[in-house]
Amino acid sequence: MLVAAFVIGGLGVVAAIGLGVAAKVFAVYVDPKIIEVSEALPGANCGGCGYTGCSAAAEAVVKGKAQPNVCIAGGFDVAQAVATIMGLSVEEGEIGLAELGCKYGQDTAHLLFDYNGVKDCRAAHRISGGGKICDMGCLGHGTCVRACPFDALYLGDDGLPHIIASKCTACGTCERICPKGIIRVQSPSRRFTHIQTEDDCVAPCQATCPAQIDIPAYIAAIGRGDYEDAVRVIKESNPFPLVCGRVCPHVCESACRRGHADSAVNINHLKRFAADYELHSGTRIIPTKLAATGKRVAVIGAGPAGLTAAYYLARLGHSVKVFEAMPKPGGMLRYGIPEYRLPKKTLDWEIQGILDLGVELQCNAKLGEDLTLKKLEDEGYDAVFLGVGAWASRRLGLDGELDFDEVASGTEFLIKRGLDQETPVGKNVIVVGGGNTAMDAARTSWRLGADNVYLLYRRSRKEMPANDIEVEEGEHEGIQYHFLAAPTGLIGKDSKLAQMEFLRMELGEPDASGRRRPVPIEGSESLIDVDNIFSAIGQSPDLSCILDEEVGQKIEQTRWKSVLVNEGTGGTSVNPIFSGGDCARGAATAVEAIRDGRFAARGIHLLLTGEDVKAPNKWLEKAPKLPGIDEGVEIEDIERAKMIELPVEERRNFDEVELGLTEEMARRETERCLQCGLVCYRGYRESAS
Ligand SMILES: Cc1cc2nc3c(=O)[nH]c(=O)nc-3n(C[C@H](O)[C@H](O)[C@H](O)COP(=O)(O)OP(=O)(O)OC[C@H]3O[C@@H](n4cnc5c(N)ncnc54)[C@H](O)[C@@H]3O)c2cc1C
Repeated sequence: MLVAAFVIGGLGVVAAIGLGVAAKVFAVYVDPKIIEVSEALPGANCGGCGYTGCSAAAEAVVKGKAQPNVCIAGGFDVAQAVATIMGLSVEEGEIGLAELGCKYGQDTAHLLFDYNGVKDCRAAHRISGGGKICDMGCLGHGTCVRACPFDALYLGDDGLPHIIASKCTACGTCERICPKGIIRVQSPSRRFTHIQTEDDCVAPCQATCPAQIDIPAYIAAIGRGDYEDAVRVIKESNPFPLVCGRVCPHVCESACRRGHADSAVNINHLKRFAADYELHSGTRIIPTKLAATGKRVAVIGAGPAGLTAAYYLARLGHSVKVFEAMPKPGGMLRYGIPEYRLPKKTLDWEIQGILDLGVELQCNAKLGEDLTLKKLEDEGYDAVFLGVGAWASRRLGLDGELDFDEVASGTEFLIKRGLDQETPVGKNVIVVGGGNTAMDAARTSWRLGADNVYLLYRRSRKEMPANDIEVEEGEHEGIQYHFLAAPTGLIGKDSKLAQMEFLRMELGEPDASGRRRPVPIEGSESLIDVDNIFSAIGQSPDLSCILDEEVGQKIEQTRWKSVLVNEGTGGTSVNPIFSGGDCARGAATAVEAIRDGRFAARGIHLLLTGEDVKAPNKWLEKAPKLPGIDEGVEIEDIERAKMIELPVEERRNFDEVELGLTEEMARRETERCLQCGLVCYRGYRESAS
């Protein structure tokens, strides 16, 4: 017994000596700092940071391979504690959120569905029920739900994962595990600088909208009464919802699938409804903004293009100063579009929201006179956005045109009004042209008291580029349209304008624009008595402001004398000068200027953060043409909401004509939206062929 005890005790001593020697030979030195950092981390070992556990993450921080805010579960306090140990400082970063790229589903994506003529999973489901087939969409297996270390995902009744925002730490586990690559962690900045690609599940309306607004999402938000969320969704792609809700030509509606069945959803007036809600709520919805980067950007021109670029650049943390030639910001939104369509107070409120982000504005500062591109470079600006619009007007080209004070361009007339200057008109006014400027000059003349306002357009009504609603409202207000007519001469009396001669036209072969060319009918001359003529036959950029110096002369121009830009990035031939809006496209629309401002802000941000300045792969600029809904498809009959308007007899003033939709009308209108998705449709087509 005693012997046995000695043997065991001896073995113990030998083992202890052996272990002691082994500990000396195989000892692993652990940096006390790693232990300290590791202890500051929560110890959940969730792997959300991308390292195998908290010790591995701590080691990465100490070795400088990870930032103090490596722990996504720990939040700001943990990051600060780690930073203190490391002798570093930490700034509060953006809060990201997981987001599902496939927005629609019923059962699982691989169920074959009888589409009944509707080539879209969600629209098909709304009309007839059933599943869908889509190679690219969510499988609905819930792998991401099981993998989420924070229980921030659950599988909904619709077969799709849903994210619980309050639990999501943006760790990215779901993004890494998703077999379809459609669940992504999106920070706000990643979201608002995103340019839609062919792989995004976007509805036809969104794919057609130049600003790429997530239209189904804001319609759905209005539908559930969450108007703030609707505004947030819109402002991710467009900082001008009040403006666009009033003046946008809404090409999105021409792509609306509902339009094939009865009439398109009233998308634009729903946008206006949400924007008006914010305006009248008394509380501005403040968009998120990144920490300051220390980079400075100069924006030339405070039109929608320049102000949109400023809005996104400020949100991305850059310091922005806007230089504007006129006394007030807004560009043609202020100096072109009249108050009865876009009240100045409404415009001011929208612009103030952009300035509130810290954007500095200097008015009465004209490039080419008060500042130059070289001066901006010398002052240390890191990039410039040029958004000077298209303010040069084309003349009629008639003899004596410049001799009569009563002949002016439509924009000269409207700009004068925008500056609150006197703009008297006589009894008979002729406006020449068929675009928005022509309509605004005509409807303004009527409001100023003209008895007869004639609008002469050399093509037919079908070819008029003005917004349809403008032509219609002009008709209600008594504008007298003379289609297929063009001016040929001016006749004066006592050195004042007295009459205009015009010719009748007929439509010939299509020209380069695809529209049928107007051809004069010989011998069809007529005369009209006239007191004022406003020509509105086209505007073009005036780039003289950049041509007075070497840098400006290097900026390449198109053959139409507009700035040549890379459409995907807004970059010009001179780095770091970017451009967009009317000065690059020629006179176009507000929403296109807004699109250009956002694209250029993204381009500038890429440049300032040292990344490749390029558009994403498979960038989706134009929506593919989609087939309609087969006849006979049953769809719930809901009449399209109609804008409430001021009666014609109350319109001889500059009060706003369109008064908005009521809440009830807006909520009902949202029920007409089919919530279409596009990827599902393409997936279906590919698998069907
Ligand atoms: C009468 C009229 C009606 C219209 N109606 C509609 C409509 O209903 N719907 C629609 O979508 N679009 C409409 N448009 C078009 C729309 O207003 C323009 O497409 C849009 O404003 C272009 O935006 P932008 O920022 O490129 O240029 P602008 O809005 O023209 O802004 C350019 C800015 O640059 C400033 N600027 C110019 N030169 C200099 C310089 N050298 N230095 C500093 N600043 C300078 C200008 O003062 C201006 O503020 C209309 C246009 C007009 C003229």
